[in-house]
Amino acid sequence: MAALNQHGKSKDELLETLTAKRSRDARWQDGRTFGMVYDGGPSVHEVAEAVAQIYLHENALNTQAFPSLGEIQSEVCGWTASLLHGETAAGFMTSGGTESILCAVKAARERAKAERGVTEPEIVLAESAHAAFHKAAYYFGLKVHKVAVLDDFRADVDTMGKLVNSNTALVVGSAPQYPQGVIDPIPELAALAARVGASMHVDACMGGFVLPFMEQIGIELPPWDFRVEGVTTISADIHKLGYAPKGASVILHANKHLRQYQTFVFDQWLGGFYASPNMQGTRAGLPMACAWAVMQHLGLEGYQSRTRTTIETRKKLVDGVRSIPGLRVLGEPEAQLVAIAATEDSGLDIFAVGDALKQSGGWFHDRQGPPDTLHATVSVGNAPVIDEYLVDLRAAASAATGVRLDDRSTNYATLE
Ligand SMILES: *Cc1c(COP(=O)(O)O)cnc(C)c1O
Repeated sequence: MAALNQHGKSKDELLETLTAKRSRDARWQDGRTFGMVYDGGPSVHEVAEAVAQIYLHENALNTQAFPSLGEIQSEVCGWTASLLHGETAAGFMTSGGTESILCAVKAARERAKAERGVTEPEIVLAESAHAAFHKAAYYFGLKVHKVAVLDDFRADVDTMGKLVNSNTALVVGSAPQYPQGVIDPIPELAALAARVGASMHVDACMGGFVLPFMEQIGIELPPWDFRVEGVTTISADIHKLGYAPKGASVILHANKHLRQYQTFVFDQWLGGFYASPNMQGTRAGLPMACAWAVMQHLGLEGYQSRTRTTIETRKKLVDGVRSIPGLRVLGEPEAQLVAIAATEDSGLDIFAVGDALKQSGGWFHDRQGPPDTLHATVSVGNAPVIDEYLVDLRAAASAATGVRLDDRSTNYATLE
């Protein structure tokens, strides 16, 4: 166990060490990472970095001390509500999709208890729903009914319907779901929830800053946002394809009345009135201010053009994968998410293809499954290198022929 250094180190020395440490990190700056960091381009960096400098130290714990952060939160939530057609929607900023989902699940539990006397709350979801719902159920004591997806990877409404009952606090749908990028049948799922008076969450952590702009540029989509009757909450991550730095998401409720089930207010201790909108106490102002600035820097036009490029790039990726012998794409991806698999008769190990890609060009995909696939979140940053990527992918598929890796582990997220 190493102790902290006795004598302070200079900025130059620290930056040098960090630069060396970072040299092994994923190279998102040159479009080689299909996930985790979404690069909105040089002007977005400039804006975010300038704002980060002035908001580095601020704390949104108390918006009486920092009224600017109260305004920032309210404006960001308002713009997001407008994108998602939530005329009466109200919400809060959170640190990310997971926290937004934790808030939605907690709110659904409180609502079921208050309005229907539910003491043993349950969630009904598809197996494609994000792991964060299971985390929330584990934290907050809800029982999960998990249902297999259909052949097209969408939620199975009929089977989920059989599991909805008087204890159901929440039904979940995703727009799109993360693993294969398809949009669940949101109106049908929302109707299931409405039937018993339960809440309906639409996980648009990935889609929240893509689907609205797809619609705006003329791409037809199934209904999924607050225009759907019965949708009570939506999560949308600004730190994904909203192109803001990490630590920014929005959780919206259909109205202010429903929002009250999310919050925690307490004054029975020696420190005074404590009101908190989400899971945090002390709350970094930096990601909130950066998200506020990046959203306005891009504006609707900036998002529309990035969305157009992203969707074109996703199409190139899907067509490219399908033209390579031995590879296939699962389902029909509708937005920016793609799952790349080996064809059944090829004998290829898709994880070996992933390793070959990493070695040849420093390309980084998450491994996911079941079934074994490489996951791609396409964003505008991948556009300039997509042709190069497809050349390397073809070569990687050849190089991996006959290779079977012993390590079958997947790696969406890791501990240490
Ligand atoms: C990313 C993601 C989440 C979780 O968000 P984090 O910001 O990583 O906590 C939840 N749902 C979907 C569909 C996602 O893509």
